Amino acid sequence: MTAGHVVIIGAGQGGLQAAMSLRQEGHAGPITLIGAEEGLPYQRPPLSKEYLKTGEAEKLALRPAGFFDKKEITLRTGTRADAIDRAARLVRLGGEALAYDHLILATGTRNLVPPIPGVERALGLRTLDDARALREALAAPRRIAVIGGGFIGLEFAAVARTFGHEVTVAEMAPRLMARVVSPEMSARFARLHRDLGTTLELGNGVTKVTAEGVVLADGRTVAADLVLLAAGVRPNTELAEAAGLPVANGIVVDAQLRTADPHIHALGDCAVFPDPQTGRPVRLESVQAATDHARAIAKTIVGGTDEPYAGVPWFWSDQAEWKLQIAGLAAPGDESVTVGDSTVLRFAGDRLTAVETINDAKMHMRARKLLAQDAPPTRDMLAAENYDLTIA
Ligand code: FAD
Repeated sequence: MTAGHVVIIGAGQGGLQAAMSLRQEGHAGPITLIGAEEGLPYQRPPLSKEYLKTGEAEKLALRPAGFFDKKEITLRTGTRADAIDRAARLVRLGGEALAYDHLILATGTRNLVPPIPGVERALGLRTLDDARALREALAAPRRIAVIGGGFIGLEFAAVARTFGHEVTVAEMAPRLMARVVSPEMSARFARLHRDLGTTLELGNGVTKVTAEGVVLADGRTVAADLVLLAAGVRPNTELAEAAGLPVANGIVVDAQLRTADPHIHALGDCAVFPDPQTGRPVRLESVQAATDHARAIAKTIVGGTDEPYAGVPWFWSDQAEWKLQIAGLAAPGDESVTVGDSTVLRFAGDRLTAVETINDAKMHMRARKLLAQDAPPTRDMLAAENYDLTIA
């Protein structure tokens, strides 16, 4: 299908990439990109990193305004899709109905708001507007409490410490970034943040937010005049669900990233897809997943190919001077092998599942290449090389 109208709901990282990839693949028909936020599509990763330091919002735009005219992509920002009528193949925007031949759902996620009394006092960090508000708040000396020791909370904490603010991170789990990194890597990052002067409360979540600060599970109060809520996200699945598409912690798609409706794909943060390695349903919150999904979907729509999605997951997080990079996807119980000061390999039995590195781009790239192979080296093979990925 190279001439029909493709409508994309969500003008974030993945939605924009889908529009671009459709044109690159030779799609000749109209493309409409609908985004609820105002302004040009922008990158979120710098919001918890560089942007907090520099405030340079203009650097965040993924493409300049002229790009959309040049590529004949109709960009409708500040516009929310309200409903999908699958039988009539229409997207409803307020009173307007927009016909589609193919629909891509790229609606992303929003902050998870846990049922903690007073949580509405906390600020979030998801959008450029959120980041602007936080940057303004950081202009004066603050006592900061961060709810959640995941990537975003820790990146924010590291920047706040460089500005000299008092920072406490409260995490319900017994270790940092527990969902995604090995216990060994969690421990390293705990040391880093303590060395930066951040107080870590591990296994001690926030139970209440008050005008004075936050109350922890152990009953103590941490005084704070700025509270960041960074306790995870929930996928924006309501549109899909109301349209009768299966949803289970995300919009369920098959190996071709198609929903139960062959005219509708879903991608990125909002999509649950079968992990190419294990087949287990996963939902990834990463630039890699959003952009690789988008490229694969464009190929399917334009070329009619039926190839299963096979991207190797990868991710990065910048915390103070450390760049953490993760290639692959480990399950929480996977075993760890530590190599040197900066690398942890994860294994499920004999299979290499992920490689975590600190400030080692070469090793990270090598790991991505290995994990993309049809038959990556087994644990025994790697052990024989002292787990040196550069040799394997
Ligand atoms: P998004 O980019 O979130 O875009 C979804 C868009 O859909 C939103 O603009 C939303 O407003 C819009 N939308 C939703 N519903 C509707 C509707 N009904 N109608 C119209 N529009 C709608 N990833 C990394 O890999 N590395 C990092 O270091 C990293 N750092 C991050 C730091 C921060 C502060 C944040 C918030 C995220 C970070 N991420 C990082 C995650 C990464 O930004 C996301 O995984 C990526 O943006 C997902 O792309 P997406 O297209 O699925 O969703």
